Amino acid sequence: MDKLLAEAKKRDQQDELAGFRERFHIPKHLDESDLVYFCGHSLGLQAKSVQAVIQGEMDAWRDRAVRGHFTGPLPWMDYSRLLCESLSGLVGSRPDEIAVMNTLTVNLHLLMVSFFRPQGTRRKILIEKHAFPSDRYAVQSQLHFHGLDPQQDLVELAPRQGEYLVEESAVEDYLSAHGEEIALVLWPGVQYITGQAFDLPRIAAAARLAGSNIGFDLAHSVGNLPLALHESGCDFAAWCHYKYLNAGPGAVAGCFVHERHHAAKDLPRFNGWWGNAEQSRFRMAHDFEAARGADGWQVSTPLLLSMAPLRASLELFNDAGSGRLRAKSLAMTSYLIRGLHELPGELLEILTPIEPQRRGSQLSLRVRSGREDGRALFEFLEHNGVLCDWREPDVIRVAPVPLYNRFIDCYELLRLLAEWSAVRDNPSRQSAS
Ligand SMILES: *Cc1c(COP(=O)(O)O)cnc(C)c1O
Repeated sequence: MDKLLAEAKKRDQQDELAGFRERFHIPKHLDESDLVYFCGHSLGLQAKSVQAVIQGEMDAWRDRAVRGHFTGPLPWMDYSRLLCESLSGLVGSRPDEIAVMNTLTVNLHLLMVSFFRPQGTRRKILIEKHAFPSDRYAVQSQLHFHGLDPQQDLVELAPRQGEYLVEESAVEDYLSAHGEEIALVLWPGVQYITGQAFDLPRIAAAARLAGSNIGFDLAHSVGNLPLALHESGCDFAAWCHYKYLNAGPGAVAGCFVHERHHAAKDLPRFNGWWGNAEQSRFRMAHDFEAARGADGWQVSTPLLLSMAPLRASLELFNDAGSGRLRAKSLAMTSYLIRGLHELPGELLEILTPIEPQRRGSQLSLRVRSGREDGRALFEFLEHNGVLCDWREPDVIRVAPVPLYNRFIDCYELLRLLAEWSAVRDNPSRQSAS
């Protein structure tokens, strides 16, 4: 452990991004020390700049009221364009391919209205067996909406027997054998339980080769991994901003519609006035005239107060730079993986792929001794100031986030795990804490 401690200290000293931690509020443990927060994949921490940005919009509302839409330093009308300019760098799209609106599951539904169009024998949706429940509910209800039966028309691709990961080649194999039945593939960028990052261009290519539409759920990818959505060739994507993007609980979400669909006149869509072209939106015309690009999928007035924290957060990402963030993220997870391998005993199995290109900031650790022991370990960590995430039945998820976590945080987790292993392997010994 001494070598790991020395390495953590040295890496923190050399970390070019170390200063960003001070720009966040770090929740406190009982003894008023900083909590080691490894739940950025679930709800990112609050940047200190957020409050002033929200207050600025509160002041604009108070002082300018309805004029706030068109006047002031940043008129509300221009807000979403500004956000999309900087978001497009993070997701690798043209600015007009993305929109900031609604929440994630709502966006999935709106996009499936356009991109799940079952016809004849091509009417199934392909997802992964362990898809996030909200995504499964969404596709089940889309199938019902089209008069189809999820029992028959929802295909769930499972990992091979006894395994946790779904290989890209398995998706390709399935699609080359059965692709003519698939109308839509809905796939995650990063699997939320295992932390597996998928090769998105490869999955998009396989789906398109099979003649299917392809959409990505990027809830665990945006702000975590470099993305190239336009290049990937997917039809659409959706994501939330409260995980790695730190935009706060229930923050406004994002969506992507590939440029090749922007001129399509025949796509069904659920319209609202905010999807109308800006030039004619306020003429209150009877007939809808779609805005070009992803903006055309907007429905309602922008959620200004929930966009403001996103603006503050994107400034931090711009300052930090996605290359440096990715490098630190990989360095932290590599450090953890090495430390985990050095732990005595067989306490944990790392479910996340260890190849760098197949993982983001999250490591998923399966407690080999099962659920009860796993819960006890999770609670031991929390009691000692290390907050991870527990997934039934036996997985602890750990997300060292490069913007605000340190190597010493990773060391603290390893230290506690070593302590736990020592006590377990020799129950007569007392725990040091
Ligand atoms: C976090 C997450 C969601 C949450 O959806 P909301 O509509 O924002 O509540 C959905 N799908 C996936 C894959 C997620 O990781």
